[in-house]
Amino acid sequence: MATLAKLVQVDVSAVKGLGGKRSESLRKAGIGSVSDLLHHVPRRYIDRSRRSPISKVPIDQEVTILGEVVSVKDRRPRRNLHIIEAVIKDESAQMKAVWFNQSFRVRQLQSATEVALSGKVEAFRGSLQMKSPEVDVLANQTEGLTVGRVVPVHSTVGGVGPGYLRRAIHNAIGRSLPMPDPVPTELLAANGLMDRGAAFETIHFPEEVEQAAPARKRLVYDELFRLELALAMQKRHQMETSQGIVHKFDGELVSRFVAGLPYELTRAQRKVLEEIESDLGTRYPMHRLLQGEVGSGKTVVAVATLLRGVEGGWQGALMAPTEVLAEQHYLGVRSLLADASLSPGLGSHLGMESLFDGGGPAVHVGLLTGSTAVANYDAEITRQQLADDIASGQVDLVVGTHALIQEGVEFSRLGVAVIDEQHRFGVAQRVLLKEKAGEAEPDVLIMTATPIPRTLSMTLYGDLDVSIIDEMPPGRTPVATKALSKLDEAKAWEVVSHQVEKGRQAFVVCPLVDDSPKVEAASATAEFERLSALMSDLRVGLIHGQMRSADKEAVMAAYRSGEIDVLVATTVIEVGIDVPNATVMVIEDAQRFGLSQLHQLRGRVGRGKHPGRCILLADPTTTEGEDRIAAMVATTDGFRLAEEDLRIRGQGTVFGTRQSGVKDLKITDILSDFDILVGARRDAFAMVDSDPGLEEHRDLRDEVLAFHGSEVDWLFVS
Ligand code: ADP
Ligand code: MG
Repeated sequence: MATLAKLVQVDVSAVKGLGGKRSESLRKAGIGSVSDLLHHVPRRYIDRSRRSPISKVPIDQEVTILGEVVSVKDRRPRRNLHIIEAVIKDESAQMKAVWFNQSFRVRQLQSATEVALSGKVEAFRGSLQMKSPEVDVLANQTEGLTVGRVVPVHSTVGGVGPGYLRRAIHNAIGRSLPMPDPVPTELLAANGLMDRGAAFETIHFPEEVEQAAPARKRLVYDELFRLELALAMQKRHQMETSQGIVHKFDGELVSRFVAGLPYELTRAQRKVLEEIESDLGTRYPMHRLLQGEVGSGKTVVAVATLLRGVEGGWQGALMAPTEVLAEQHYLGVRSLLADASLSPGLGSHLGMESLFDGGGPAVHVGLLTGSTAVANYDAEITRQQLADDIASGQVDLVVGTHALIQEGVEFSRLGVAVIDEQHRFGVAQRVLLKEKAGEAEPDVLIMTATPIPRTLSMTLYGDLDVSIIDEMPPGRTPVATKALSKLDEAKAWEVVSHQVEKGRQAFVVCPLVDDSPKVEAASATAEFERLSALMSDLRVGLIHGQMRSADKEAVMAAYRSGEIDVLVATTVIEVGIDVPNATVMVIEDAQRFGLSQLHQLRGRVGRGKHPGRCILLADPTTTEGEDRIAAMVATTDGFRLAEEDLRIRGQGTVFGTRQSGVKDLKITDILSDFDILVGARRDAFAMVDSDPGLEEHRDLRDEVLAFHGSEVDWLFVS
């Protein structure tokens, strides 16, 4: 008898049958403890009562045969062809099975190995045979025969086969039960969950196949409940240990700003703004993720958020991932303020300008990027001068790149930071921000146009609050999307020419080149030359990541002002570029891009009053590639695409960072177990609300530490 938390500490070599080399191999393959072993659940179950005896096997139907290998041989009737033939017997008869070019079967199917073969049986030259059946090895000849009606099939791990695993798990369960259950009985009852020890026993050795599902549900709940407890405690800890700013909304800045916009805010924009404002008004620093499709109007929300801070006498910072985007945000902020008639005659010096010259309150906006950007706007202001003005508090709103908080820029009183497309924002960045702010921790809003399926935002970003703009401004039509083979590319260029004739503009995104910006730039340049010749009557431009930032900015400015008709680009343009007059997006070799990237690219068009079109030049060579292209054509809903992406790629591949929580899930499939996730999260947050340190749930606390201790190491403090 031992708690699960204890079993995390017990080495797998302690299990009977797994001494020496086997435990070593298991450890290398990720099963180091008894708990890991218990979480290695069967891949499938074979129900002996449903099997067909060989003598009565029906022809041409899917069946499962259970038997013992009599013999196996590898024939080579000609070069490049191996035919593996095995003879299988059960109590009723024997039968042949064949595979082509699968020589490993000879080792797998040594005589006396107990196997399950699934597939169709055909009559072949007067006798029965199965062609290329699926094979589950149930036990090899040294392990003895399996017993029981239902045989669990555990995947081989580190070379340790299903028979050994089955027996080792059987031994481990025998030693571990009864297992104390730390989850309160009310929660078990409310969620319809069985006892934990019984769940482990049943998932590995069900008497009926149907019993496995409720057992699995219990174990999935436990995994998610632990993870959500860790996230809830982490969030609680952050709130308790940080001193935020209680923003006061007593100026008229925001109301004037909103009233002056040339459109009404959408219901969704108003809703998220309310959520943000309620965070700003508390003494806890905001730590909120704002999700919204490309074009859903996040920028207005960001500016209103920043102005809320400015209104109360604080500074705001708006940070973008690249200089091009920072510059664009700067232009966006300026034009939004101008839209709202809050602009003071522009142009005095553009790097920094004063709003409300004269009577009203004054907002000073600055753009600070790498060493060159500021000078581009105004020779009179150097980067140093602007930095000085930020430090002295003369500048209220600073737009820049993410480097703004890493570099030696000092703020006088930073109150609100909005960070665009920064998935990597974590504890380290928070510490930096805190240093910038001085007395209190600034409120942080992270914006992303990458739709994150709720299932991921609850696990990966579970310690953040999430706001979603789930509605587009009125009048947008979804971008019409078409896939063409590269052989039909002429059709794409026809569409481009036609749109340009009507006064519109187009993007052409060049093929992705693996990991080499240099090679990618070269191929974009070549494509630019080819298309310039092909569409010689159009003005074709080029932008790629290897260009100097001043050159990139010049190209973007020319495109924005309509001096370029067709912009050939690498994925530099992926995020955030806003040119409302662009209506066509052609993506070459589209099958090589990920779904979220394709979705981002498509979002670059159809942003103005003219409907957008997206043409995917794609010749997919894999089913994954085909699936992605089909998904793009089928829907423009980013959340659906994100879920589809997760389905195609699998949860093991989500993002590069922040994935620990999801990686730890051994049994859960976050897509199909979404309902359990929602329940576990609700229960975990409620528990931490009423018992913040889990003092009244010591066993659960130990368990959270045992499973997530390295991620929430501050928990060890008390
Ligand atoms: P995002 O940053 O979410 O991609 P933007 O903030 O750039 O989107 O907004 C896209 C476009 O929609 C901009 O041209 C903006 O002026 C316009 N817009 C934003 N909100 C509204 C609204 N409520 N009604 C009409 N147009 C809007
Ligand atoms: Mg944006």
